[in-house]
Amino acid sequence: GKFVEIRNVSKIYHTLDGETKALDDLTFDVDKGEILVIVGPSGCGKSTILSIIAGLIKPSSGEVFINSNKIDGTNKSIGYMFQNDHLFPWRTIIENVMIGLEIQNKVNDESIERVISLLDTYGLADFKDHYPNQLSGGMRQRVALIRTLAIEPNLLLLDEPFSALDYQNRLAVSDDITNILRREKKTAIMVTHDISEAISMADKVVVLSNRPARIKSIHNIELTCN
Ligand code: ADP
Ligand code: ADP
Repeated sequence: GKFVEIRNVSKIYHTLDGETKALDDLTFDVDKGEILVIVGPSGCGKSTILSIIAGLIKPSSGEVFINSNKIDGTNKSIGYMFQNDHLFPWRTIIENVMIGLEIQNKVNDESIERVISLLDTYGLADFKDHYPNQLSGGMRQRVALIRTLAIEPNLLLLDEPFSALDYQNRLAVSDDITNILRREKKTAIMVTHDISEAISMADKVVVLSNRPARIKSIHNIELTCN
């Protein structure tokens, strides 16, 4: 059923030199376990909609419900993954993965074991005591996702997670990340300007028009080729 509901969300930014209408009346749903990808040109409002769903900024009008609850900015079970991996260079891989749990005061034998098992499942156990600069860009993105998963979020928000990677790596890493999301049965909302990335990863694609972002079309992606 519906897990995230975006209802008539609009956003106007007020600045010294006037107003920018970033979002115009967006309505869409995300089902539980679904990967929804929002695609649109740069500057059309993709980061804005993710920030609203995360509760970081308020919409000018409209509402967002997660699991039937209106969002209020205190939802700890949302995981956020950014363009750059934001790993701390002076911390080892496992120390990086533990950060979210440290912030939430949830470091204990059980959570450490869970993190080690995640690293193991996704081929990073041998690198747990390495530093980020000893890993490839793709591996670092995997670490960033595992760090996000470590807090056991029930919703993942991914903001152009592959744009820092070169084209060749991007395809492999997006495949890899999709597999992890599917195995962990996570509901995810990703934004990208790359339509082929959207089609290859998504269960559902929301296409936005140029600024202000309006919904152009919504497509269910059926993976028919094998
Ligand atoms: P995208 O993520 O698609 O690149 P954004 O959501 O970052 O788009 O931005 C959408 C529009 O809103 C842009 O015109 C941007 O300049 C404007 N905008 C974004 N954040 C702010 C802000 N904090 N204050 C004013 N304008 C903003
Ligand atoms: P992206 O396009 O990669 O999503 P941007 O470079 O548009 O990101 O925005 C980066 C940050 O700057 C965001 O936090 C956004 O809210 C803010 N921002 C973007 N445009 C403006 C603006 N015109 N005025 C103030 N803040 C802005």
